[in-house]
Order: sequence, then structure tokens, then C-alpha cells
Amino acid sequence: MSIIKKTSVVSGFYKLPIEKRREFVSDFATLTAGDSSVFSSALDLATADRMIENVIGTFEIPLGVAVNFLINGKDYLIPMATEESSVVAAASNGAKIARIKGGFTTTCSEPLMIGQLQLLHVNDVVRAAKEILNHKDNLLSLANAQDKILIDLGGGAKDLEVRILHSPLGDMIVTHLIVDVRDAMGANAVNTMCEALAPMLEEITGGKIRLKILSNLADRRLVKATAVFDKEKMGGESVVDAFLESYTLATIDPYRAATHNKGIMNGIDALILATGNDFRAIEAGAHAYASRDGRYTSLTSYHKDEHGNLVGEIELPLAVGVVGGAVNMHPKAKLCRKILGITTAKELSEVAASLGLAQNFAALFALSTVGIQKGHMGLHAKNIAVMAGAQGDEIDRIADMMVSEGKVKLDRAKELLEKIRKKTK
Ligand code: NAD
Repeated sequence: MSIIKKTSVVSGFYKLPIEKRREFVSDFATLTAGDSSVFSSALDLATADRMIENVIGTFEIPLGVAVNFLINGKDYLIPMATEESSVVAAASNGAKIARIKGGFTTTCSEPLMIGQLQLLHVNDVVRAAKEILNHKDNLLSLANAQDKILIDLGGGAKDLEVRILHSPLGDMIVTHLIVDVRDAMGANAVNTMCEALAPMLEEITGGKIRLKILSNLADRRLVKATAVFDKEKMGGESVVDAFLESYTLATIDPYRAATHNKGIMNGIDALILATGNDFRAIEAGAHAYASRDGRYTSLTSYHKDEHGNLVGEIELPLAVGVVGGAVNMHPKAKLCRKILGITTAKELSEVAASLGLAQNFAALFALSTVGIQKGHMGLHAKNIAVMAGAQGDEIDRIADMMVSEGKVKLDRAKELLEKIRKKTK
């Protein structure tokens, strides 16, 4: 039996009608007819009503797939839910260039999350901190008694650390519970453990526990992705140099770093949303990690290799899950996981990091060469045409006219619409 290796490389994917794109994705991911029908169905109200409070409807945003991704030698089509034009195209383009030199390579730490317990009103914080550490084994056993499933899977509370912090309200002890959450994002699992530990900590120290909750600065759950971007494909070494000049600003200036990292999150958030994960948790973790040395900086780094090619690397915390939360409630999130062909949180986080790097590379590449607007303009012009009231064929006609004039403005779109409609009367 011969095994045909499926590739995520597809030329002109964007030119295909939606039905043909779905066929390609269905074939790539071996989707059933039942799976494929989920593409066109909206989230049902009963499910939505179970997910959040006060439901009055559902809110749709476009779902696309980024193509060309090769990560650790495996091909991926990456589902992306986003309202922003050019994001999916840019990611696919970044992945296409990365592929020439072998695609993305990733490494990942264990899925360790941190739960915090804030203890106040302790007379001797140093002594109390020691007492907590003396009871570490009992505290870990109590934490682990909360989640048999996690323990059976090899996860659970692994360690306990104590920090003494000084505040305007006096000294406080912050105990960190380190939990291996396996394939879950882990917030509920960790919060449950923290709440269970609170009475024991109060008893041990005589203090008062206030906060008992997960930290979104998941800096024990880091993912790294690297890729080499071919200098010839980029347009030569001078373009690589221009790229490095652009990138350098993000390393020294928080005003630029914020935009630079926002570009990274354009990709990551779209995947996180498409898989039903908590994008606020990912955002909070990423930006806090970008400030870990006391100054907000770039989440990516770039340099030239000995052949003049560009080497890119990203490192960030990625607390994602393939179980728990909403990931198995939302039918499209389940479908997106099937398209990705992943079953572990680790693999999802590795795909997310690679996507973030591809996205960042593509944005900086455009900024260092033609500028960002060229790529943005096509779809942006269509949006402006729609805002002006264009319908059906009018949208493309007006968008094309505005792009060729280099004038993508609402007032111009309205003028052109009036002209077109007068002519056809
Ligand atoms: P969860 O409690 O729904 O699922 C995790 C549980 O699933 C584990 O505790 C375990 O018992 C079980 N499980 C089964 N198979 C597993 C496997 N293979 N690996 C790991 N666990 C497995 O969800 P969660 O992941 O603990 O919490 C995520 C949710 O919490 C998200 O919806 C998030 O938005 C929300 N949340 C976030 C925050 C925050 O980020 N600060 C705070 C509160 C809640």
C-alpha cells in the first residue's frame, strides 16, 4: 500500500471558488460529509446559550485557511478566524518562503501553569514562608486530590514556590502552585486546586488568603519556533539587511514593539479563536512575556546566517487546550482541530508559534520592501466599496478602479458608484 503524503502547498488557492477550497481542505484533512457540512452551519443557539450568559444570538467572522505550512516536517493547513484582511494571505506567503529552507522547527516546554495564592496579615513572613515549604508534600497531595483525571494522565500539581512581596499594604506571601495541565488550557483545573489549598495555607501560617487564581503569565509553558528565510526569494541580501533594520526598531522601542507584536498576534489569535481557545489569555501571556526584562520588546528575533539568509525565531507562552473550556463545545472549533490534524495541546502550541513567526516575517518583509498598504489595499478597497453602498459586481469594479487610481477613499467610492449606476440606467 502506498501512502500519499498530503501537501499544504497549493497555488492560486485564493482564486478558487469557496466550494473548491472546501473540497481541497476536506481532501487534505480526510473530512467526512458530516464534517464538511459544519463549514456552512452557524453555531446553534442552544449551544451558544450554554457557553455564555444572556445570549441573544451568535456573531460570525470569516474563517479561512493558511496554506504552505511545513512544521517539523509535517504539512498543515491552518484555520484562521479573523475579521482583518490580508492576514491569511500574509501568513501563507511567509510559510511559502520558510518552506524553501525546510519550514519551521519548534521546541516546547512541559505544559506547566502557575496558580497564585496571595496571603496577607502574617506577622513574620519569612517564618511563614518556611512553614509553607515545610508542608509542601501535604499541599501538593491536597491539590492533586482535586483532579484525578489529570493525575491519571501524568499531569497534576508538581511543585510549590513561595515569594515574599512588599506592598503599600505591608508584606505579603505569594505562593505559586506549578501544575502540569497536559492537554488543557488549565485555568479551571488550576483555580480549583488553588481554592482547595487556601484553608490549609491559612491554617499553616495564621494569615488570610485573598486571591487564589491562575497567572496568565505562563512563562513555564514556552514554545519556540525557528525558520530560515531564503535570501534569494526575499530579493537578495540587501532586502535581508533592510528587514533587519526594520526589525531592530522593535527591539529598542516599545512604540514599534507593540505594533510588531500585534502583527504576530494577528496570526496566533486567529488560530486560537478558530480552535475555541481563550485568546485573551494568550494575549495577556504574550505581552507580559514581552516585558519580562522590565522593558516591552519584540517576541521575535532575527539574524543573518553565514550564507546571508534570514533566520527568524519566536518564543512566547502559549496556554492552549484541546480539551476543556469551549474547545469541544463549538462544532467549528472541533472541525478546525480536525483540519489541523492535531490531538495534543503541545502540537497546537507549536503550530501557533510557527504561524506567529510566519505572520511577523511577512509583515516585516512587506514593510521593508513594498510597504504594507499594497497587500492590504485589494480587500480594503472592497470593504470601502461596500461601505459606499456597492452591491454584487459593483464591489469588485469599484475596488479595482480605486486601487488602479491609488485612491482608496469612501468619497471616491461613492462617486464611482454613482457613475456606474448612472451608466447602467
Ligand atoms: P476544564 O476544567 O474545562 O478542563 C480541564 C479538565 O479536563 C482537567 O482538569 C481534566 O480533569 C480534564 N481532562 C480530560 N482530558 C484531559 C487531558 N488530556 N489533558 C488535560 N486535562 C484533561 O478547562 P481548563 O482548561 O482547566 O480551563 C480553561 C477554561 O478556563 C477556558 O474556557 C478559559 O477561558 C477559562 N478561564 C480562564 C481564566 C484565565 O485565563 N485567567 C480564568 C478562569 C477561567
